Amino acid sequence: MIIETLGKVVIIFAIAFAVLLALTLFLCFFIFRTKKIIFPNFVLFIISLLYEPLRRLLSFFRVDPTLIDRVSVEIRNALNYLDFAATSMEERVLLLPQCIRSMECPAKLSSVDGIHCMECGKCAIAELSAISKELGIRMYISPGGTFTGRIFMHSRPKAVVGVACYPNLYEGMLNAKLMGVPAQGVPLTTLGCVNTTVDYEEIINKCKMQITKSK
Ligand code: SF4
Repeated sequence: MIIETLGKVVIIFAIAFAVLLALTLFLCFFIFRTKKIIFPNFVLFIISLLYEPLRRLLSFFRVDPTLIDRVSVEIRNALNYLDFAATSMEERVLLLPQCIRSMECPAKLSSVDGIHCMECGKCAIAELSAISKELGIRMYISPGGTFTGRIFMHSRPKAVVGVACYPNLYEGMLNAKLMGVPAQGVPLTTLGCVNTTVDYEEIINKCKMQITKSK
């Protein structure tokens, strides 16, 4: 009797799990295709709960598993918009990965706040650095994951624009959320450990985002 009841409970849980996976994937595909964000908090909650199973399922069906990360980043960008836009430029931090630097970058690494761009002009970070200074935003270049956390603690931002591959953006934006910092994510357009690319225009637009006050 007990075994029979236990069996039924297991089957109910298995069906509920499968339905939840299918529903979340359906919502992710819908958001990805239409760019319409529906049930954002529900989708983010289920994704954070079932992140690995969802990615594995997509891989099994030969679908790019970063779909989950892409949708999460899109949702968080939308949800964070108002809180981010309400912060002043001085409260914001622009966090860049070291992989977008030139291979011949002469910048030095500080153990406290990452790589210090010298604006040598060998890569587009020079322009970003100049624009950041003009806007009053602090810009950091992180050599890696643990360093990013250190920079975050050092700079104590009220808002952050992060650049990374989708999986790292997913993780970074989740951590920022847990710290109560509204983040805007900009994905890399080509991946790798070196010579990666990104839409610089998008970074600048995100950095400049502000609430337009009606007259
Ligand atoms: S512009 Fe800055 S980040 Fe780019 S190569 Fe020169 S020093 Fe390095």
